[in-house]
This record gives sequence, structure tokens and C-alpha cells, in this order.
Amino acid sequence: MTTLALLYSTLLPLHCFASGSTPWLPQLKDWVETNSSTSNPEGISSMRKKLIKALESAGLQAKEIQSDVDPTRYIIEATTGTADEAKIAFIGHIDTVFPKDSTFNQLLASPTHLKGPGVIDMKGGLALMIEVLNDLKNSAPGQWKRIKVLINEDEETGSKSSSAMLDQRVKGLHTAIIFEPGTPQGEFVHSQSGVLWSEIKIHGKAAHAGLSHQLGKNACVELAKLIPALSQKTDYKKYFTVNAGVIQGGTTANTVCEHASAKFDVRFIEKTHADQWLKTARKMLATLPNGFKGEVDISVLIPSLGQEKTKQRLAELKAIGKKLSIPVKSTHVGYIADSNHLAQVPGLSVIVGAGPYGTGIHTDAEQMDLKSFDERKVLILQWIKEATF
Ligand SMILES: [Zn+2]
Repeated sequence: MTTLALLYSTLLPLHCFASGSTPWLPQLKDWVETNSSTSNPEGISSMRKKLIKALESAGLQAKEIQSDVDPTRYIIEATTGTADEAKIAFIGHIDTVFPKDSTFNQLLASPTHLKGPGVIDMKGGLALMIEVLNDLKNSAPGQWKRIKVLINEDEETGSKSSSAMLDQRVKGLHTAIIFEPGTPQGEFVHSQSGVLWSEIKIHGKAAHAGLSHQLGKNACVELAKLIPALSQKTDYKKYFTVNAGVIQGGTTANTVCEHASAKFDVRFIEKTHADQWLKTARKMLATLPNGFKGEVDISVLIPSLGQEKTKQRLAELKAIGKKLSIPVKSTHVGYIADSNHLAQVPGLSVIVGAGPYGTGIHTDAEQMDLKSFDERKVLILQWIKEATF
């Protein structure tokens, strides 16, 4: 039994890791067991300090930069001291979705998997970043100087305090590598949907349902007609989906419904499809029967990540994978991440899903496929070593 295995013998079920194959494990265990829910400021602060220490031990100069959108939030920016030479951004986040009092709060291991809160989303990705940096520092110092690390702490709630700060700091760079986990099968992400959140509101006229039914204008009924018409615009072939997720309306059963509303989540690759959908919704509201009024409020509009931003980098990774006998595949995903806004920065290409992968993301079954750590490490290292700018 190795020293490392002894260290974990209380947690590791039976099997041990091969000596020296997972030097990053004690650090990952510490990070995973440091609760850093987006809404846990003490945990976030503690995790931020730990990551800064790890970045500094990989030879980088790291600083905390306060957000001007939300002064309680920070990002970490770290460079090798030659910021003007930076060409590649390493992107990650320290926050997780697991609340402070979650009982899913330990790193557990089997010979093939690691299980714990945020182990792939994305503390495993952060551990991989540090491994890659340490390796580059010795094996390719010229390329090590090309790295700039940017870490935020509100990714799981939409990066409201940090997205502009990240976008600003990747300007002029060549590629952003996002160390999120990709898919459970280990595919990288070649495109990501954009999202539109809107609320459709209809206003009618209240009346007593028994005494003066004929004087009422029922907003619930009018809204109910709109919902199927707008939902049927879903077209899976175009990755265009419409979800009426929340419907509200009326006050009591014996009152004609005066106000009704529905919240829609619309996902798209082509923004024109979302624009067309909005146009249809507005047209339907403009042609409501007399006595009704309608409106659409937009709360979120996040652009999609198109394949043109990932294609060349993925082709390079595929070629490297072929030489190393590591299959490199990619897919479309419907969720939103920092890659969506980063991809809008002119001239920047992105590699999305570079982190170790596994299953059960955002659940109490989140686990890392252990072999994916080294697999991703050699791929990313080789890509950086071969990159020319
Ligand atoms: Zn994540």
C-alpha cells in the first residue's frame, strides 16, 4: 500500500491508487470537501484562497479582482508575469450547486471513479489546470508563458457579476480552454444553444363568475390558446425548443380571470429562429380580441456558441488524439455556460469540455471517470505544445 493510499484508507473503498499516478488527489479532496456553493460566501472565499495558492505554486502571479457589478464577488486572474505574451486562457469556476448543508460533502474513491460534490463541475477541471501548468512550466516554458488563468465564482447562477470581466480579459487572445467536463461519454462540445427567457402576460377584465360572467374578459382562456401555438414551434432538427415552464393566472374559481402569464424558455442555435418566435408571439398578442391587452417581457437573452468558434481547434485535437490513440469526439449541448459569451469575443476560438468527465453532474451521484483525468491532460498538454501563434 502506498503512502497516498494510507492517507485515504479511511475513505477509499479497498483499492488503492498506483504510486505517484495521482499526485493531485490530496488537493482535489481538500477542494471537493470545501463547500463552495455559489451562495456560500465563506466557502467561496476559502476556495478562492486555496486555488490562488495552487496557482502560485505553479509559478503564476494571481490576484483577486473585485466585480463592479457585485462588490461581494471576485474573479481570479493569474499570469506567469508576462501578461503581454499570453495567448491562451484557462477558464474555470470555483462555485458549485451544492448547498452549504448538503450531506453530499466528501470525496470518495473507487479504483475507477472519484465521487463528490463538484468533482467534475469543476474542481477536477481546476486540478487538471494546475497539473497542466506545472507540467508546462518544466517541459515547455515558452508555452507556459502563453497562459492566462481566469476563474469566476458565480458561473452556476449565470456569471452575472463576472461575464463582462472575463470577456474583457480574453480580448486579443487566441484560444480559451474551458475546463468544464464535456459530456458523460467524454465528448467535447462543438456548439451550444443560446437561450431566451421571456414572460408573456395577458390582461383581461375581472367579473363575478355567477353574477356578471358576460362582463368579464378571461385572460386565462386567451393565454391557454397561445401556449400550444407557441410551443409547437419546437423543431429538434434545428435545435430549436420552446418550453412553457410556468403558467399563472386568476385569483379564485368564481372570478373571471383578469391577469394570466406564462414563462417560456426558448433554446436556439440560429438567433433568427428566436427572433421569428418572438415576432409570432407579439403578433398573436397584437391580435387578441377586443378588451384584452398583452405584452412580452424578455429577462434573459444569451447568444449561442456556433461551430465556427470550435471547429479548427477540435480538428487539431482530433489529429493529436489519433497519434495518441485517444478518440476525440464532439457534440452539441443545450445548456448555457461561460463559453456562450466568451465565444462572442472577436477573434477568439474556444475549446469547451476540456476537463475530466463523468456522470451525475449537479446531483448527489456526481462522479469522475478517473482515467479521463490523464486522458484530457495529455491531449491538452500536447495541443498547447504544438500551438503556434
Ligand atoms: Zn461548471
